[in-house]
Amino acid sequence: MIRKISDILKEKQRTYSFEFFPPKTEKGRAKLPEVAEVFKDLGADWFTVTYGAGGSTREVTMEIVDELQKKFSVPVLHHFTCVGHSQEELKKILGEMKRRDIPNVLALRGDPPEGQEFWTPTQDGFEYCYQLIELIKTFGDFFSIGVAGFPEGHTNCPDKATDTKYLKIKIDAGGEFVITQLFFDNKDYSEYLDRAKKVGVNVRILPGVITITDYQVLLRFCKTCGATIPQKVHDIFKPLDGNKEEMYKAGVKFAVEQCNDLLKRGAPGLHFYALNKVEPTREVLGKVNR
Ligand SMILES: Cc1cc2nc3c(=O)[nH]c(=O)nc-3n(C[C@H](O)[C@H](O)[C@H](O)COP(=O)(O)OP(=O)(O)OC[C@H]3O[C@@H](n4cnc5c(N)ncnc54)[C@H](O)[C@@H]3O)c2cc1C
Repeated sequence: MIRKISDILKEKQRTYSFEFFPPKTEKGRAKLPEVAEVFKDLGADWFTVTYGAGGSTREVTMEIVDELQKKFSVPVLHHFTCVGHSQEELKKILGEMKRRDIPNVLALRGDPPEGQEFWTPTQDGFEYCYQLIELIKTFGDFFSIGVAGFPEGHTNCPDKATDTKYLKIKIDAGGEFVITQLFFDNKDYSEYLDRAKKVGVNVRILPGVITITDYQVLLRFCKTCGATIPQKVHDIFKPLDGNKEEMYKAGVKFAVEQCNDLLKRGAPGLHFYALNKVEPTREVLGKVNR
């Protein structure tokens, strides 16, 4: 029986989770359990596997979740989006998750498919994430549900206050914890916690952290997900562009400082965008004052 994340959150004051994406190659797929094992031994509370992000194959998410859960007895949070699915299909996939004893789901709306600029719901699908949560709740208490949070506000949302209002709707619908988009200014996280508290969001908000190891990748990544790169980050990493070794060192240093500061600010743990690699996340984790 796989544990629900909501139960882990009741027991532990701080949690550490690690996000993977479905590898595109057989080699990558074969290596993923080795990566997961390293994080398991370092005390991973759960892993997460993305769904369709960046054009990755969606069917394979469930297979990987199933495989990692069985192999390590560590809960694996199945990301799940509304993109391209009718309500009937969404229900069917949730039924299959239940059949396979996958009780942890990160409910997401998803981004428009590649080549499409604006979001439009699939015919007979959902427009917003909270509707998916309502569907998940029709399975009773089987699922523990996480949702996405945006400390800087979601890119399509007019302002931060409205964004927090929508977060509250997701929590009221059944969201039990929040994992945030990556960000580099911890002030954004603290302000997000304050805003969420003010509107009555009392669930844990886990900061999503990424370690910068490549300046060009950072630019691309943030353009895609809408995260701001503060001037301070450009100042540190731009001069190191192309210098792999120094970039790596600076990335680890920045991430360790960011993580330690987040924990000092009261973050209830850390969610690492590990990108299917052991390093640099292992090094960062080893230097964080857990
Ligand atoms: C931790 C994390 C993991 C992610 N994993 C994946 C993944 O695996 N696969 C993937 O494709 N994407 C993933 N994403 C990206 C995510 O799908 C997109 O950012 C998406 O645009 C927003 O999803 P959401 O669930 O927050 O949507 P929603 O909460 O539905 O919000 C979408 C937009 O609608 C607005 N909105 C929300 N509710 C309402 C309402 N009631 N009325 C009017 N407007 C509303 C919001 O302000 C926002 O602009 C992830 C994001 C995060 C932070």
